Amino acid sequence: MPINVDSYHNIRKICEETSVLLVVVSKYFTVDDIQKLYDLGQRHFGESYVQKLIDKQKVLPDDIKWHFIGHLQSNKVAKIVPFISLIQSVDSIKLLHKINDCAKVLGRTVPCLLELKIAKEKTKYGLSIDNLSQFIKDCDMNQLTHTHIDGVMVMGSFTSDAIITRDEFKNAHQLFKLIQQTNHFPNFKILSMGMSDDFEIALAEGSNMVRVGSKFRVDYKHPLL
Ligand SMILES: *Cc1c(COP(=O)(O)O)cnc(C)c1O
Repeated sequence: MPINVDSYHNIRKICEETSVLLVVVSKYFTVDDIQKLYDLGQRHFGESYVQKLIDKQKVLPDDIKWHFIGHLQSNKVAKIVPFISLIQSVDSIKLLHKINDCAKVLGRTVPCLLELKIAKEKTKYGLSIDNLSQFIKDCDMNQLTHTHIDGVMVMGSFTSDAIITRDEFKNAHQLFKLIQQTNHFPNFKILSMGMSDDFEIALAEGSNMVRVGSKFRVDYKHPLL
């Protein structure tokens, strides 16, 4: 599937002007497509599946910053820890400890984001708000020496109703600030929020990292409009 280069340049410009980090979600793209975006200067790419990520990482340039954005099973952590730049989908203490232990063995420190479940619709993954304060209490950063939580990742509801999305993103920003104010996580500064169909709303609501994929496909159509 060829890339819509105009769409890429448009969104990149918006992100540069607002100092927002653009992560290109490359799960829809081939190695050749990713290389094309790399040649245009793109360095941050996000993948949702461990095996696909590994296949692409092996053959693409070493200075790509790979983000893991999908559901991560503990038994697959060791496969990505050697090279991953940011794991955006941490939703349990168990997973965080697994990442820490693998990173320790390799002498790396792996930055992570906490995936929060903020959408009104039922979604499978992410930490629910009800469990957030317990999660923070359980995070003993003296023990977790080889990982840190640098912010949160959220996904809005799958809806064409901008009011719902805005509301969810406002809540997410509030939660982000609350966690930041606990001073529990020293490097807490990333609010990863916004995808192809809602990144404009996310930017207006304080996002500083967007994850955009399908909008860069030549056959992109808004799925609900
Ligand atoms: C696929 C995916 C994206 C990108 O979604 P698009 O709507 O294609 O831009 C962003 N974040 C996560 C977690 C994803 O799984």
